[in-house]
Amino acid sequence: MLDNLRKNELIKSDRVYEAMRKVDRGHFAPYSPYRDAPQSIGHGVTISAPHMHANAAQALEQHLQPGMSALDVGSGSGYLLAVFAHMVQPEGKVVGIEYIPELVEKSKDNLRKDPTHAEMLKDGRIMIIGGDGSLGWPEGAPYDAIHVGAAAPRMPTHLIDQLRPGTGKMFIPVGQYEQAIWEVTKDADGTVHKSKMYDVRYVPLHMQPEN
Ligand code: SAH
Repeated sequence: MLDNLRKNELIKSDRVYEAMRKVDRGHFAPYSPYRDAPQSIGHGVTISAPHMHANAAQALEQHLQPGMSALDVGSGSGYLLAVFAHMVQPEGKVVGIEYIPELVEKSKDNLRKDPTHAEMLKDGRIMIIGGDGSLGWPEGAPYDAIHVGAAAPRMPTHLIDQLRPGTGKMFIPVGQYEQAIWEVTKDADGTVHKSKMYDVRYVPLHMQPEN
């Protein structure tokens, strides 16, 4: 499957390919893990399709360099946390935030199926927090990379605030009926750039009206 993604140029860099090769999707998706389609993981939620995981890791590649820190909002199955964690080794950190408590626990169990990921969870290189990720997780900010795995009804300003000036980049689906991936970067002087990339279909990101 990974070789197909590479052949079709969804995976462009060796770093993304190697990181995805180190993570067995079978630990995270109970049904048809190696089909290039989203799969149900319970609680009305899906693990994203492999090509979307590849797109996200590829878009954030320069922001997932060794030693960098990343936030995954709506971390769901935990799959992408493991991929990102491999990319930022050594010394980098990855934080997942997920608002369904059962999925926080399940994603930890999924990660523990591989001793390398179990170790990363234990020593804090991977953390999974329960809560509303549309607010980000200020305790771990700023982040070089922010990935959002659910479609936000509008651009969450808290997440932009938590991007590191100079290196920060966010990959986020935005929209309700029509959704598109947006890439948001922050210059060293704090200037924010937003670009709309391509149309997608994600489960909704829950967001309080006042945020
Ligand atoms: N990248 C994940 C995507 C899971 S689907 C994967 O491939 O497994 C999106 C996830 O976002 C769901 O688990 C959903 O519960 C979660 N979610 C939705 N709104 C959220 C919010 N405000 N804060 C945190 N998680 C949220």
